[in-house]
Amino acid sequence: MKSRTKVVVIGGGIAGCSTLYHLCEEGWTDVVLVERDELTSGTTWHSAAQVTNFGMNQTMVGLKSHSIALYKKLRDDPDYPVGYHHGDGGIRLANTEAQMQGYRQFASMARGMGVTFEVIHAEECARRHPLISTENLLGGLWDGEDGDIDPAQLCQALAFHARKAGAEVYRHTNVIGLSQHSDDTWTVATDKGDIDCDIVVNACGYRVNEVGAMMGVHHPVASMEHQYFVTEDIPAIIAAGHRMPLLRCPISDYYARQEKNGLLVGFYEQDCKPWGMDGISPSFSNDLCPDDLDRVMDVLEGAFARMPALAEVGIKRIVNGPITYTIDGAPLVGPIPGKRNAFCIIGLRAGVGEGGGHGWLLAQQIVHGEACFDTWGLDPRRFTRHANVELTSLKAIEDYQNEFRFHFPHEHRPAGRPAKTTPLTPVLAAEGAAFTVVNGWERMEYIKPSPNFHPSLSFNFDEAFSVVEDEVRAVQTGVGLTEVNGFNRIEITGTDRHAFLDRMFCGRVRQEQGRVGLGYLLNHHGMVKAEATIANIPASDRGPDRIWYGSAAASELHDMDWLSQHLREDEDVQLQSLTNDQTILVLAGPKSRAVLSEVARGDWSREAFPWLSVRESFIGIAPATVMAVSFSGELAYEIHVLNASLYAAYLALREAGEAHGLRLFGARAIESMRMEKGFLHWKADLITEFDPFETGLDRFVSLQKPEFIGKDALRTRQAEGARRRLVTMRVDATHAPAPPGASLMNGNEVVGTITSGDWGHRTGLNLAYGFVAHELSDIGCRLELDLCGDLVPVEIIPASPYDPAFEKVRG
Ligand SMILES: Cc1cc2nc3c(=O)[nH]c(=O)nc-3n(C[C@H](O)[C@H](O)[C@H](O)COP(=O)(O)OP(=O)(O)OC[C@H]3O[C@@H](n4cnc5c(N)ncnc54)[C@H](O)[C@@H]3O)c2cc1C
Repeated sequence: MKSRTKVVVIGGGIAGCSTLYHLCEEGWTDVVLVERDELTSGTTWHSAAQVTNFGMNQTMVGLKSHSIALYKKLRDDPDYPVGYHHGDGGIRLANTEAQMQGYRQFASMARGMGVTFEVIHAEECARRHPLISTENLLGGLWDGEDGDIDPAQLCQALAFHARKAGAEVYRHTNVIGLSQHSDDTWTVATDKGDIDCDIVVNACGYRVNEVGAMMGVHHPVASMEHQYFVTEDIPAIIAAGHRMPLLRCPISDYYARQEKNGLLVGFYEQDCKPWGMDGISPSFSNDLCPDDLDRVMDVLEGAFARMPALAEVGIKRIVNGPITYTIDGAPLVGPIPGKRNAFCIIGLRAGVGEGGGHGWLLAQQIVHGEACFDTWGLDPRRFTRHANVELTSLKAIEDYQNEFRFHFPHEHRPAGRPAKTTPLTPVLAAEGAAFTVVNGWERMEYIKPSPNFHPSLSFNFDEAFSVVEDEVRAVQTGVGLTEVNGFNRIEITGTDRHAFLDRMFCGRVRQEQGRVGLGYLLNHHGMVKAEATIANIPASDRGPDRIWYGSAAASELHDMDWLSQHLREDEDVQLQSLTNDQTILVLAGPKSRAVLSEVARGDWSREAFPWLSVRESFIGIAPATVMAVSFSGELAYEIHVLNASLYAAYLALREAGEAHGLRLFGARAIESMRMEKGFLHWKADLITEFDPFETGLDRFVSLQKPEFIGKDALRTRQAEGARRRLVTMRVDATHAPAPPGASLMNGNEVVGTITSGDWGHRTGLNLAYGFVAHELSDIGCRLELDLCGDLVPVEIIPASPYDPAFEKVRG
């Protein structure tokens, strides 16, 4: 066994084997995998091993396409062939029009990744799958690439090729400890001896938190028991003369695929059972949980009703094994929050199908610092400290119960809520607020017109449309108040703070005291990594000269990791998170200055406190830091208040606002208004797949600066020219917004992808942003949007269609 290597991958299931293989593919061959037992002795060996191409976003579809291409290559490899039924096809069933509309949107989104899904009616489903009845069926989504693979052969083949490239695999080698040294390297202690390495990867399946604990972290991953059975031969399958496609049923929560001449049927029962919550026996290996078909009887009835032939054959084998879930259903693939040189590939619930792609994206992140797709939807840093073991298990149960029911726009399921609140949450609830969830925070979405107001789940504009319109109108013509909780805030102090940020941002960073600026951070490939406001706050009794770095709520761990990784030892810079200590109240609208002037001492005139200023003050008796910044495009103030004083500040603003007709407004109104201003959202419009020039951020880039992260790569990219550009579009439809991921067409060719879409209530326009082929990105250019299956004309228009001269924000 080696005593030193570059990377140690812990765990020999599909996650570990795929990572090892892809590290070698990326050129790192001094790598090892350690497995406590035999390869695939965790969950992988007993997997139903279906491989599908379906995904809820383009990254998932892209990584699954990689799996399929890789598995085909391995199947055809004469050195180590793998059993893979590729192309049996698969159907996701639907019995509501809303589900069918969702499928049409997923087909539009997949089209942009070169993947063809078909939305078919009930009779066509039955024609392609002769065992099913069309009772209570509208249709389904057809994925022609679906199939199943032999999971053990797959892992052995990946390990075989990795070994051939130079990697080593140590079986029966249990990792028992991890220690990190001052130079950020690791020692992996095993029962066979120590291995020193630069980087560790946790790929330990349901034992993820045993290994997590060895490095002092808890991963938001929980296991659920999951069962399938395999039937005797079914005569109708033999008679059909072709393999049966896969079935996924969101109506009755089961799946089925062909196994020999019978069916393998798996269940997602409501009466489901978490597993391993109180520890896992060390001897549980190559093992299963006891059968318990009673638990799945309700689901089984649905499967029998859909496939009557199923009821006529015996059951050959039952499998009940642990399967891992996270709090949003997607795995955790990427850097471990708060750690250096540590990665994970965990929480895989469809790991055999997806594992090829996840290992590919992880290896790219380890070797190159970033993958070819934006991986935020998989990034372990997308959850923050609220994602504890109890919350995770509640969300795991909920997710398991809804396995095949995709999330609709604006849908936030109830388990584990509320997780993060402020002192205002109950106050706003009493005012009638509906809440959305942002990184665990309950954030006001709008004020409900009646207590039982629940808009329907749909890809169309829903019943909240006119409610949001009223809130926008109130802000546009008078004054509105909203709470923005969880906004990421890092206080940066020290004499080198400006030099540090100058290196981190691709443009000039504002340094004048009392002023606020906006800027962008790039990765080493010159792509957009982060967006932040920088507020320079002069010394006072509240602290020394300091900078407040502000960014999206979800970026809390991501941005802190990125900033702290790039601090130099000789720099006098301190970073402190204030995110959980304070909350923002936003006062917006032409009358906001009048309200502010009544509750806060001092001169708030346009001259004394112009747009992009920051000042410490009091709102009534509540200490506050006020910034003249606006995401709505109206005159607006962000009022940052310690949570202990939040209610006091709120009461003062409500009282002063009464005479001015102050109204509460929520996140949906903000979303509509920011679209009219051309303001961008991190991880919707700002992603690592595009550089700042392609994203239209030219004015925030200063290539004259001597140094910033990503500068060399950006210069090269600039010389090569933009591939796509982010544009604003007017969509010629009134019934639905352009959903993120939807494809933009020029004839039969996909030429762009939507990143954001919403109705602009002040402009009366259905607005969308999207990345479009450079040569088709000029203003006036007309394209078509695949809007849930309908081709709808769109026209590229100038950004910021509302108040393009930015007069209103100045007041
Ligand atoms: C009944 C069932 C049906 C399924 N059907 C499908 C399906 O149809 N399609 C699909 O894609 N997915 C399916 N899955 C899910 C899929 O099988 C898993 O997502 C996948 O196998 C997980 O792989 P993994 O590598 O993450 O974990 P595992 O396979 O559990 O591998 C983790 C490995 O880490 C090792 N390990 C743990 N601790 C240590 C340590 N301290 N030192 C060294 N080694 C350690 C373990 O021994 C184990 O081999 C199913 C799961 C179940 C339970």
